[in-house]
Amino acid sequence: MADELKHAREQLLELSQKLCALGLNRGTSGNASIRVQNAQGQGGLLITPSGMAVEHMRPADMVWMDFTGHAQGELAPSSEWRFHVDILRAKPAVNVVVHTHSMFATTLSTLRRDIPAFHYMIAVAGGDSIKCADYALFGSQQLSDNALHALTNRTACLLANHGMIAVGADAEKALNVTLEVETLCEQYLRALQVGEPYILTQQEMLEVHEKFKGYGAWANNP
Ligand code: 13P
Ligand code: ZN
Repeated sequence: MADELKHAREQLLELSQKLCALGLNRGTSGNASIRVQNAQGQGGLLITPSGMAVEHMRPADMVWMDFTGHAQGELAPSSEWRFHVDILRAKPAVNVVVHTHSMFATTLSTLRRDIPAFHYMIAVAGGDSIKCADYALFGSQQLSDNALHALTNRTACLLANHGMIAVGADAEKALNVTLEVETLCEQYLRALQVGEPYILTQQEMLEVHEKFKGYGAWANNP
C-alpha cells in the first residue's frame, strides 16, 4: 500500500511536469489528480497542491484526500478539489483527472460553444461533440456540478471562460485525451477564422465510434 502511494506521488508529479513541458499548463495554472488509497488502505486521491508552480513541486507535496474532501498533510489541495473528487466518485473507470488552461481550449471556452464533430477525432472524448460546461467561479461546487454535467458520457469538456478537463483510466490515457482535445480546439478555431466547417453526420460519427473500439490508445478509455 505504501509503495502504491509512493508510486502514485511520483506519477502525479511526472504527469504535471509533462503538462508543463508540452505547453498545456504554465505557472500555477491547472491541476491533476490520481485515484489511490492512503497508507491505511482508505480510498481517495492524490491531488496537486494549490498555487504552487510545477518546477517547485516534489512527490511529497502531492496532497492525499478522501472522497468527502478531507485532506491530509500541511499543504492545501488544489482549489479545484471539488471537481476532482466528484469526477472520481461518479466515474469508477476513471483513475486520473487533468485540468488545464491550455491556449486553444481556453480561447475556445470564452466563446461558450460546444465543439461539434468538425473532425472525426472528436470521438476520443466519447461522443459526437465536446461540451462546454456553464461558467461558474473557479473552485466552486457549482463549477464541479456544471463540469460533471458536461462530462456525461464524455472523457473531456471545456469550462466556460476557464479551460478544460480531461480524464482517463490512467495517466497516459488522460494525457493523450488532453493533448488531442487541445489539438482539436486549435483546428476548430482556425477553421472558424475562415468559415463554418462541415460537421460530420451522426451516421459518419457512428462509424468512427465503432472503429475506435479496437483502435490503439483510444480503445476502452476510460
Ligand atoms: P490551483 O493552483 O489551486 O490548483 O488552481 C489552479 C487552477 O487552475 C484553478 O482553476
Ligand atoms: Zn483552472
